[in-house]
Amino acid sequence: MKQIRLKERPVGVPTEDTFYFHEADVPKPKDGEVLLKTLYLSVDPYMRGRMSSAKSYVEPFQVDEPLNGGIVAEVVESKSEGLAEGDVVTGSLDWAEYNTTAGKNVRKLQLAGAPASHALGVLGMPGLTAYFGMYEIGAPKSGETVVISGAAGAVGSVAGQLAKKKGARVIGITGSKKKQDYLSSIGFDATINYKEDNLEHALDEQCPDGIDVYFENVGGEISDHIWPRLNPFARVPVCGAISAYNNTKKEENFGPRVQPFLIKSRVKMQGFLVADFADKYKEAYQALAEGLKNGDIQFEETIHEGFENVPRAFLGLFEGENIGKQLVKVAK
Ligand code: NAP
Repeated sequence: MKQIRLKERPVGVPTEDTFYFHEADVPKPKDGEVLLKTLYLSVDPYMRGRMSSAKSYVEPFQVDEPLNGGIVAEVVESKSEGLAEGDVVTGSLDWAEYNTTAGKNVRKLQLAGAPASHALGVLGMPGLTAYFGMYEIGAPKSGETVVISGAAGAVGSVAGQLAKKKGARVIGITGSKKKQDYLSSIGFDATINYKEDNLEHALDEQCPDGIDVYFENVGGEISDHIWPRLNPFARVPVCGAISAYNNTKKEENFGPRVQPFLIKSRVKMQGFLVADFADKYKEAYQALAEGLKNGDIQFEETIHEGFENVPRAFLGLFEGENIGKQLVKVAK
């Protein structure tokens, strides 16, 4: 079976050469463990940070070791109580066609009819991130204006629909016409294409009454246009800054200093990690599952086929390839 290992720490944008495939024997489960066949593998922007050696909130990946992340897998052999052959589980596992792990390290899926892949998207880490960022920090009210960058991705698309549920006017910033059409189809009130539109004009036009919530997914120049438009007591959940993830020291660019805008408008800007809200996962999961069931929340996936395409799928995140969640289908 194949594993994907880190070949070297990338400087700037990663390439296919950042990774290599390693042939290994299918592992054997010990007592208390399960043997898992990978069905779906999630690629996520935060993994770029783990490829560098910089200290962060998660341990760096190690050179010549497998990468790991969110996986949906089928139990093919169980030596763990509570899990049986054929069960479908999710957990943080190595980028490999098969894994062994203690049964307690994975969670059996109970998706009430939703596709298993949703456990890595709307009913998993990205959906929970959207929920807590939007509701716990953004806290939009009816009639307010909410702007979301990276709007057509896994987190952004859910965050926008959650803001709509509260009666806000929601504007999504994204990088293609196709993604703009997608956002309109799931209920965004307006969209801005940051690659083609003049952001100044588009924001003036779409946010004549200023911005009350800015859900930050990308950072950089796009966001520099937001700060002067924030209304008094606006909220800025800082979820991600993907435009900066491949920066080298040389390219670090801090843009306009944000403090005067925050003071003038008494803005609350707060970085967060989804794990900060771990004690409320159940509540969020139930709300997201309910939203999916009653049609308030729609969720798209961009699925690559085949384990050999995992590196390509990861790199695609930085090229704006995905609508909704970027995933790899590894096996049936
Ligand atoms: P995603 O939005 O599904 O995928 C990445 C998207 O980012 C791309 O499709 C692309 O869309 C956009 N992008 C890529 N490079 C860009 C650039 N230089 N400038 C502007 N946009 C760019 O990813 P996701 O999983 O939903 O994550 C969204 C953000 O949330 C990321 O920053 C991620 O790190 C963060 N996040 C944070 C947490 C947390 O706990 N705080 C949890 C999950 C995710 P376009 O075509 O629109 O450019």
